[in-house]
Amino acid sequence: MSTARTTIDFDRTGKQIGFVDIPHSPHEDAWGATRIPLAVIRNGSGPTVILEAGNHGDEYEGPIALGELLRELDPGAVNGRIIILPAVNTPAVDAGRRTSPVDGLNLNRTFPGDATGTITQQISAYVSEVILPLGDAFVDLHSGGSSLNILPSAIIEPAADPVLRRRNIDAVLAFGAPLTVVIDNLGEPRTSTATAVRAGLVTIGTELAGAGTVSLDALAICRRGVRNVLAHFGVLDPASATPPARPDAILRIPGHDGYVLAPTAGVFEPFHALGARVSAGQEAGRIHNLVNPSREAEVVRYGAGGIVYGQRQPGRVVIGNCCVTVAAPYEGEIS
Ligand code: CA
Repeated sequence: MSTARTTIDFDRTGKQIGFVDIPHSPHEDAWGATRIPLAVIRNGSGPTVILEAGNHGDEYEGPIALGELLRELDPGAVNGRIIILPAVNTPAVDAGRRTSPVDGLNLNRTFPGDATGTITQQISAYVSEVILPLGDAFVDLHSGGSSLNILPSAIIEPAADPVLRRRNIDAVLAFGAPLTVVIDNLGEPRTSTATAVRAGLVTIGTELAGAGTVSLDALAICRRGVRNVLAHFGVLDPASATPPARPDAILRIPGHDGYVLAPTAGVFEPFHALGARVSAGQEAGRIHNLVNPSREAEVVRYGAGGIVYGQRQPGRVVIGNCCVTVAAPYEGEIS
């Protein structure tokens, strides 16, 4: 049974900004709590949209945009309910790290969580067991994090049910990012978006730049996209949506072949910029051994053709690091 508690009443009309308190008893604080920021804005009878950011603590556009939204939004402009978790993995957000400094876990590999587990597992359990059952739609705002820079894009989490798949695609296109990409994280079931899809919620993801920085372009896309999604569901005035500026081309990361992994340690030199068109088998870059310069640099090649979608940010790599990610045209069913 969960010991998490909030003073927020999910059924009350108006705006409430507070916390979920998860009791935590470290050396410094025997009877304290980890406080997870939570806001609920409710008015009228429309659907419930859950907005989550800070799943990874080094991805900043989502938390900034959701913090602004919960401060600025007038409940009178809302028809329905918006539940906002702007910094869901609070210890990781506070540390500016992908993983939690409390227990070392990546929140987005702990779903559906464990209400009697570590702090990170308790956060994912609260989202799975308390928050998701309240929702009709779920938005999880990611960026590339410290290790990756990614072309700003809205993400489709695959759904087995064709009706839900169509709804997901429509909602993700409504976000209005410059790119729309299908990402299944190699079939990973322990993410928040995979869990939301299994729970039957219309689900929208994002990847908005990254590199542990705040991107001006990606932040603008994020601010606009969140409001576009709320307008798509009628929770904000549908006439307030800013429609996408370009036609709806959908890409996907084509499984393992879409990831170029380092075969050795060294420093990765990329051969192409983000957005470049590349083909399968083409040289993607090379890894230099700086401390043993008599050795030739080791060339790595793309496993699939498409565009360069994500790129590693730190120069140094160890074996197994993701150097480059490619996105290819999506040929699955979309209608
Ligand atoms: Ca992420």
